[in-house]
Amino acid sequence: MKTSNLGYPRIGAHRELKRACETYWSGKTSLGDLLETGKRIRKENWMLQHEKGIDLIPSNDFSFYDQVLDTTLMVGAVPKRYFDVKESQGNLMDLYFAMARGYQKEEMDVIAMEMTKWFDTNYHYIVPEFEKDQEFGLLSTKIIDEFNEAKALGIQTKPVLLGPVTYLLLGKEKEDGFHRLNLLPKLLPVYHILLEKLVEAGATWIQLDEPILATDLTAGEQEAITKVYQEIAEKFPSLKILLASYFEGFGDNLDTVLSLPVCAIHLDLKRSLGLLDKVLVSGKLAKNTSLSLGVIDGRNVWKNDFAHSLGYIRKAKKQLGEDRIIISPSCSLLHVPNDLDLETHGKTLPKEVKDWMAFAKQKLEELQSLKTLAGIPEYSSYHLFKDNLASMEKRKDSTRIHRPKVKQRVKHLNESDFRRTSPFEKRKVLQAAHLKLPLFPTTTIGSFPQTPEVRQARSLFKKGSLDGQEYVEFLKKETAKAISFQEEIGLDVPVHGEFERNDMVEYFGEQLEGFAFTQNGWVQSYGSRCVKPPIIFGDVSRPKPMTVFWTAFAQSLTEKPVKGMLTGPVTILQWSFVRDDQARSITCNQIALAILDEVVDLEKAGIQIIQVDEPAIREGLPLRKKNWKAYLDWAIGAFKLSTSGVEDSTQIHTHMCYSEFNDIIKDIADMDADVITIECSRSQMELLDAFSEFDYPNDIGPGVYDIHSPRVPSSDEILELLKKAQNVLPASKLWVNPDCGLKTRGWKETKEALKTMVSAARQMRDTV
Ligand code: GLN
Ligand code: ZN
Repeated sequence: MKTSNLGYPRIGAHRELKRACETYWSGKTSLGDLLETGKRIRKENWMLQHEKGIDLIPSNDFSFYDQVLDTTLMVGAVPKRYFDVKESQGNLMDLYFAMARGYQKEEMDVIAMEMTKWFDTNYHYIVPEFEKDQEFGLLSTKIIDEFNEAKALGIQTKPVLLGPVTYLLLGKEKEDGFHRLNLLPKLLPVYHILLEKLVEAGATWIQLDEPILATDLTAGEQEAITKVYQEIAEKFPSLKILLASYFEGFGDNLDTVLSLPVCAIHLDLKRSLGLLDKVLVSGKLAKNTSLSLGVIDGRNVWKNDFAHSLGYIRKAKKQLGEDRIIISPSCSLLHVPNDLDLETHGKTLPKEVKDWMAFAKQKLEELQSLKTLAGIPEYSSYHLFKDNLASMEKRKDSTRIHRPKVKQRVKHLNESDFRRTSPFEKRKVLQAAHLKLPLFPTTTIGSFPQTPEVRQARSLFKKGSLDGQEYVEFLKKETAKAISFQEEIGLDVPVHGEFERNDMVEYFGEQLEGFAFTQNGWVQSYGSRCVKPPIIFGDVSRPKPMTVFWTAFAQSLTEKPVKGMLTGPVTILQWSFVRDDQARSITCNQIALAILDEVVDLEKAGIQIIQVDEPAIREGLPLRKKNWKAYLDWAIGAFKLSTSGVEDSTQIHTHMCYSEFNDIIKDIADMDADVITIECSRSQMELLDAFSEFDYPNDIGPGVYDIHSPRVPSSDEILELLKKAQNVLPASKLWVNPDCGLKTRGWKETKEALKTMVSAARQMRDTV
């Protein structure tokens, strides 16, 4: 039996890669420095895995930005707009970063390639772009170089390569008249050259990642998979291919997968509990094919349950024999933080909770322990096993986790808790009488610029060098400035500005029971950007109001109705590491009840408009369509639970910022928010078609300008967008607001843009 790892975090235990990239981009360090840092991280990772006894250690899992972009460079699929950069730079790294981040230098101004979420994770990859006459050719030899680099250190690695079918399907056609999968015959020769070079260099195992197998595929796509792996088997009979897919079972692709002439097939047994049985029962696994059992959760931070994992391992061993079994994390460890040993802050991460957790390094140790235990018939008397069992038992009964009151409250919810008292039409009349807003009411999405001063004050306060009272005074001043600015320009629904918040999830998590925080638990989100997700370990409740003080303070400064600002339950869930000992839907309802308590308290404090942000609802969608309904039922339900406890006259807003609504528009309507604000300007209001076609019943604030750049929109641009909106939706339904929060902007452009926006709204009022 072998142990294998599919990928290791590459940002470094202290985010060394982030710093190295950012200083290089800003011109403070040289390319040599950057390359050196990369080399050091790779070495550390390989040595660590070697030391932890991993048999199949990955290489080429390292990346300076993204593994899909690495593949694009490898196969030479560089979009034409970067050709000048390629000419002028002479080094591949600058071309690579130009594709990732855009390039503005020496009269060249090229925009970046698009970025999107990697399956259902919070990792983002750079979307390949294809043309009809797309050519491919080996451009970067990174994968071979890194294999040799490890070899020079005395470590034989298993190079990881994104499979050709997944690579093509994750990309986009940049012109009409062809399908990207038809490029396969042109792409495959490059893969063959690479495999040949790897064989020459001495590689024996190659991991080909085809996670597209975790999604619904057409017959044509399945055939493509078959063809690719048959060809590889014919051309490289001695090469051992480990085919890896993760994040889901194989669904209807199972037969295709089982018929492939590969040496081993990886199963994500964390996401698909029954997959091993399915494979074993099918009787279709080829006699010489091994199984890679993904028993350790690569997506979450919890300690492995050895008894459970050993159950799988023993079952597989019994049927297939030891030699045909590999044990592994469920997917690349890219999605978990580096090292739990670095967490020493008992206050934010209590020792007891830490004992239930494992980060990447600890997961390697678990793998080694499982291998040891699997080899011992009487493993249950071994301390390795007993310690693990004891830890599991403690977690099961911990009073830190289990709060009967919270569980009871969720259990006793009934249908009426999930809907407003009256239907929207009636609420709309009451709210209009109450709020007296003009047509085309103007508002923002919540945050105002988080200036260096704001960040500094917070960090001084956290360090203890600014005392609580001083910090509050500082925030009061910022909030007051924001309110007076909004009054000055005549914004109809002001906000307090969110100056007290570090992050829209962390801010709430820090005030809720059941959450823990790490000091170093960073995970790569995209490029050099990392996030530190909160950890939801126990039943969630709200000990006391979280936002009432700041919202009420802002309201005390103005006659206009201040909009209270909360993060919704699904978004809080989605952007955290969530406990795995109860259904996500239950945890989500617990969070929803905590938010509901806040909503009710805001209403009591005189707040008449409350926004509950849910930018993450869409990204929580399961990879397979057949599972969508179950998810949407509880996710939309949780939002409704969090917002349904208010009077009809209180206006509930929600906000989402993505540009794909068509397939879930009905569910968004089901949320029944009185007003929804959405990102719209970059799609030139096309997005609204979904809302108008569906006859979306409630009010909508389509974003009228893009907040992702400092550019100030002209009044005409905004007017044009508003008129477009008015063409598809009645004026009585429309709100006027930016695309998203303004926290990343500066005050200068924010002020100008909002002034322009307000004047455009006024002009619209004059036209009706
Ligand atoms: N209220 C949040 C803000 O304005 C919403 C952010 C978001 O949509 N991601 O910053
Ligand atoms: Zn947004």
